[in-house]
Amino acid sequence: MRHHNAAMAGFLCCFVACCAFQSQAATPFRRTEKSTSELLQSAPGNGEAIIWHLYHSGFALKTAHHLLIFDYWPGNHVPADKKGLAAGLIDPNEIKGEDVIVFISHEHDDHFYRDCIEWKDKVKTIRYVVSPEVSRADKRFASQEDSIISIAPNKTANIKDIQVKTLRSTDSGVAFLVKTDGLTIYHSGDHACWNWNNDPNMESRFATELLKPLEGEDIDIAMHVCDPRLKTSGWGGIGAFTQKYKPRMVAPMHLMGKYKETQEIESFLKSINSPSSFWAIQGRGDCVIYQREKKG
Ligand SMILES: [Zn+2]
Repeated sequence: MRHHNAAMAGFLCCFVACCAFQSQAATPFRRTEKSTSELLQSAPGNGEAIIWHLYHSGFALKTAHHLLIFDYWPGNHVPADKKGLAAGLIDPNEIKGEDVIVFISHEHDDHFYRDCIEWKDKVKTIRYVVSPEVSRADKRFASQEDSIISIAPNKTANIKDIQVKTLRSTDSGVAFLVKTDGLTIYHSGDHACWNWNNDPNMESRFATELLKPLEGEDIDIAMHVCDPRLKTSGWGGIGAFTQKYKPRMVAPMHLMGKYKETQEIESFLKSINSPSSFWAIQGRGDCVIYQREKKG
């Protein structure tokens, strides 16, 4: 009997360990206790990224060779006692050693922080990739060879080793698909299924027609509109998007600081068997490390 129990305990340990391993392997990202300076000094490998949620639709991703910043906006309730990435803020001194690419999807105030043009005085290598709406809204963001790159919708541009593809937004500007350092990254900007009237056909049309340029893409990390005002009509299309394009990881954006909603979005995605791992962002400066699973 003792032998039997021991064998059983051994089996259970193995079983639990296997399950733990499997659930870890299924989620391609993990939280970290490391400080921002440790993270900035570290060197992610190919297919890896350190991702900070900044605020609203803003994210910063450190990849093997770049720091990619999307739609930064500090917001209206900036914490007075904290600064830098850990507080969801860009301090150009903190990132001055990075190769920075700033992506701005369109000109709306909640996606476009105009003072980011001043970061170039502190950051040694910085480029701005913007939609034509941004160039028109502020002349300082007009195209300049090699430093400000304005890309029209449905175009592909190569900026050094970074490939950028744009999708025409259902609102203003573009969504970005960015390929670099072994990663494919999607940021929706305001490209979403703005289904204010609960039209039952709108979401499938959004996924099949308006996201069509994503067909055949193998997306690692996606940031997609999840607007709490649209919760009764699919949050802006994140469900249909993940079901069709199956990014390994998806993060909600356009939350306007309503981080409590992330649990509800997670439940919604589970209820429709979304294939993507969901990052339930907890607040400004929330940070995870993404690692593309090794196949085979
Ligand atoms: Zn917006």
